[in-house]
Amino acid sequence: MEIQHAVSLKSYNTFGIDVKAEGLAVITSVAAATELLPQLRNTQTLILGGGSNLLFTKDFPGIIILNQFKGIEVTEETENHCLVKCGAGENWHSFVMTCVERNLGGLENLSLIPGNVGASPMQNIGAYGVEIKDCFHSLEALHLETGRIDMFDNAACKFGYRESIFKNELKGLYLITSVAFKLSSRNHAYNIKYGAIAEELAKQGITEPTLRAVSNAVIAIRKSKLPDPAVIGNAGSFFKNPVITQAQLVGIIEKYPDVVNYPAGDNKVKLAAGWLIEKAGWKGFRKDDAGVHVNQALVLVNYGNASGSEIWALSQAIVDDIAEKFGVPLEREVNIW
Ligand code: FAD
Ligand code: NAP
Repeated sequence: MEIQHAVSLKSYNTFGIDVKAEGLAVITSVAAATELLPQLRNTQTLILGGGSNLLFTKDFPGIIILNQFKGIEVTEETENHCLVKCGAGENWHSFVMTCVERNLGGLENLSLIPGNVGASPMQNIGAYGVEIKDCFHSLEALHLETGRIDMFDNAACKFGYRESIFKNELKGLYLITSVAFKLSSRNHAYNIKYGAIAEELAKQGITEPTLRAVSNAVIAIRKSKLPDPAVIGNAGSFFKNPVITQAQLVGIIEKYPDVVNYPAGDNKVKLAAGWLIEKAGWKGFRKDDAGVHVNQALVLVNYGNASGSEIWALSQAIVDDIAEKFGVPLEREVNIW
């Protein structure tokens, strides 16, 4: 197994942060990953997919494993469903497009999310009212210390809002090698109530949704609103939407009657972090090359040569300001190294 040394990570992370990794190993099979394990002992290790949910604030002193396991296969078919197993190194959006083309439903609202399939369970990726946990079946993962392949079903992943067991108790312990989804092959349950999907379908003259039409609508909305990392460095939403109690909300409404909030069950509400940041006056803020996107305050951006520490410092200034103005703690969604 060849390990490249002193590799620039600039093209491996969508923020475009120019740091170096001491070692980089490109892995294309489980066998190759297993072969690498002895070299990882006592060495710091980081698994990298598309680098679209990471902020590097310094050089990485250990070995980065670039996961490129490929392959998509239907492993089981029933009357209404298919079980589709996908290699962790497949591009997420390409995988969603393959499912849509094959008339397999469930992931169409998650079109155009950057990154790889292997990272999708890490934070239970979600958009437009759908999360992968809604049609996730199971995953296989290589335990980096023992070399054992373990299977995790939906419950074992402990999915939550932008959370899973792999971001918490099992952080850094497993390399996810494949993910299986249970997708509908007929009688699709379309989810078009969220945001502007229905409006976009109407604009396109579509009265009966199809998987393709919903996917196209999501793609059109995303393209119109979100910054393309190929044009301006970013990692999507930098912060999670905070979930607070009804009692806390009452206090905020007294000062900010227009605060955007959604029911989150259990007598709790979800605030839109982007709204809080915009209201606090950060939208469009720029210091040198680190900034808050001009159209979407939840997205921090690198205008070219910002360092990871500069982006981090900006995020901390925002966290402090939101705590002071609204009394709400903002939690970072992006993984920080
Ligand atoms: P990386 O950034 O490479 O890694 C993320 C984390 O997962 C790291 O901790 C890494 O170590 C770990 N990891 C990666 N692969 C594996 C593996 N195989 N095994 C074990 N650990 C692994 N996210 C959403 O949820 N919804 C959205 O709508 C959304 N929109 C976005 C829009 C833009 C413009 C951008 C830039 C990002 C967006 N994101 C969104 C965030 C991001 O795309 C997702 O979280 C995506 O799943 C990250 O995939 P990745 O392969 O790039 O992961
Ligand atoms: P948006 O539609 O303008 O909505 C703003 C915020 O309000 C979102 O954070 C969303 O929460 C919440 N929201 C809107 N309608 C809702 C509803 N009907 N019920 C509950 N919550 C609602 O957001 P956007 O920035 O254009 O993004 C659209 C979708 O893509 C969102 O689901 C967002 O999460 C996802 N996205 C995620 C990332 C990322 O990096 N994680 C980046 C870009 C877009 P939720 O975020 O909980 O949905």
